[in-house]
Amino acid sequence: MFGTMMWQSLTTGSLIAHAEKYHARTEVVSVEADGSTLRSSWGEVAANARRIKSVLDGLGVAEGARCATIAWNNRRHLELYFGIGSGGRVTHTINPRLTPEQLIYIVDHAADEVLFFDRTFLSAVAKLRPHLKSVRHVVLMGPAEAEAAGMIEGLLFYDDLLAAGDPAAPWPDLNENAPAALCYTSGTTGHPKGVLYSHRSLVLHSLGGNQPDGLNVAARDTVMPVVPMFHVNAWGVPYIAAAVGAKLVMPGPKLDGESLARLIDAEQVTLSLGVPTIWMGLLAGLKSTGIKPASMKRTVVGGSALPPSMLREFRDSYGVDLIHAWGMTETSPLGTLNQLLQRHTALDAEAQSRLREGQGRPPWGVDLRIVDETGAELPRDGVAQGELQIRGHWIVESYFGQQDSALTADGWFDTGDVATLDADGYLVIRDRSKDIIKSGGEWISTVELENIAIAHPKIANAAAIAARHPKWDERPVVLAVPVAGETPTEAEIRAFYDGKVAHWQVPDRVIFVETLPLGATGKVVKAKLRALYGDVLIAGD
Ligand code: ADP
Repeated sequence: MFGTMMWQSLTTGSLIAHAEKYHARTEVVSVEADGSTLRSSWGEVAANARRIKSVLDGLGVAEGARCATIAWNNRRHLELYFGIGSGGRVTHTINPRLTPEQLIYIVDHAADEVLFFDRTFLSAVAKLRPHLKSVRHVVLMGPAEAEAAGMIEGLLFYDDLLAAGDPAAPWPDLNENAPAALCYTSGTTGHPKGVLYSHRSLVLHSLGGNQPDGLNVAARDTVMPVVPMFHVNAWGVPYIAAAVGAKLVMPGPKLDGESLARLIDAEQVTLSLGVPTIWMGLLAGLKSTGIKPASMKRTVVGGSALPPSMLREFRDSYGVDLIHAWGMTETSPLGTLNQLLQRHTALDAEAQSRLREGQGRPPWGVDLRIVDETGAELPRDGVAQGELQIRGHWIVESYFGQQDSALTADGWFDTGDVATLDADGYLVIRDRSKDIIKSGGEWISTVELENIAIAHPKIANAAAIAARHPKWDERPVVLAVPVAGETPTEAEIRAFYDGKVAHWQVPDRVIFVETLPLGATGKVVKAKLRALYGDVLIAGD
């Protein structure tokens, strides 16, 4: 026997249809590749998404076919999210910072039939075009122009296509398990792997991730996703904003601190989301412009560990609450968000801050555990550390195009992160299992060493790696970027660790560098640093 309630399929089309019907006048602001600001609304975005759907019908793109985007966070990209995915195809967002070989691999692996791109990437796409065998149509996301048309044979133009589209094209009746979006992991090791999100998983992620202790986005908010739309669906923000009818600010390509500070001020952004490197830039930008982000109440930070000093600076200097979140491409991505429990309100500010430095706890919809090497579950005592595993409504089951399950025999996904959990489910990521330093059989967290270095007033950024050691197998080495104009000494920075970690965890070397290598998603590429500095303790550098 079943309950006797209406049944409706959970589709992304239902999200955009809601925004269109109930939030048509709410603004969508988009910074374009040429620096201009385009003002639109959910009503217009929804009508254009319907137009795109009808255009793909006209081009004979079959249901389930992949359509790729190489684009910034902007209005047209938002329209494509829904126009492609809600229209029954799959929105395959591609990271433009990948190498040409990786881009070709991914397009080929996904068998993308259509490729939409921002003008910024014109010459790159023109060079790639002959290698993209599966692609039938290439579309420049902008108005028609002769120069571009001369560079790519048969090039189509987004604005022309839109003009011919049907703004009332109905959203198809889709099975909620049908695929809607595809995103590849950045593949720092091996080939990138695709995660194919279903309509159901995207809708449940929007609801589960937007609970009051989650992103908590409401219709009265102005949300600015700085996290790219090609990085795990901008953490779900486009879908969530449509579901609640929030004003959206799409920042386009200029993500330096000063540009973001001006945009926050001009559009009265209340909530923004991005990786720590972006917020380091924003803090510098706020200082140099003197802008006080008065409208901004919350910033969500994730993607790599949050330096605790950043949490305090946002709070003390600007009254902005930094919310630490953890997730990955395979988890859609929201896995944990850091909000306090009722009883924590009795704690003093310092104790609250310490709790909030961790990655937070899972919302309804996902479940976490930590296990040892044999797969046995470890205690939730905030001390035992082990491999973090996750399961839930928006967690990957198998990678795109692979028959094998990606899960353990008992149905959990192994994240590759090493973590502790406490009795309330508060997660602290200690490291990635491939980054953690194993010194004489003891583990040293690179995250902890980095956070200490970054808290030093003369250090702007730092990365800790495992360097090979003849006696201890591995020992910590820290690569540190000094603050402009400062010349810290190695002895000074090493001394800064005294009393903050056990003496055997103090890095053997602190080496000053001008920059740290960043990968396609703005995270430090530790593999590159290990290749460069992994032998400094052996060579006696
Ligand atoms: P990639 O980094 O390979 O592009 P993802 O974007 O999916 O892949 O990144 C997921 C990984 O990023 C996690 O497994 C974890 O190691 C790291 N990560 C994400 N958020 C945090 C966080 N808040 N603190 C520490 N590490 C994080």
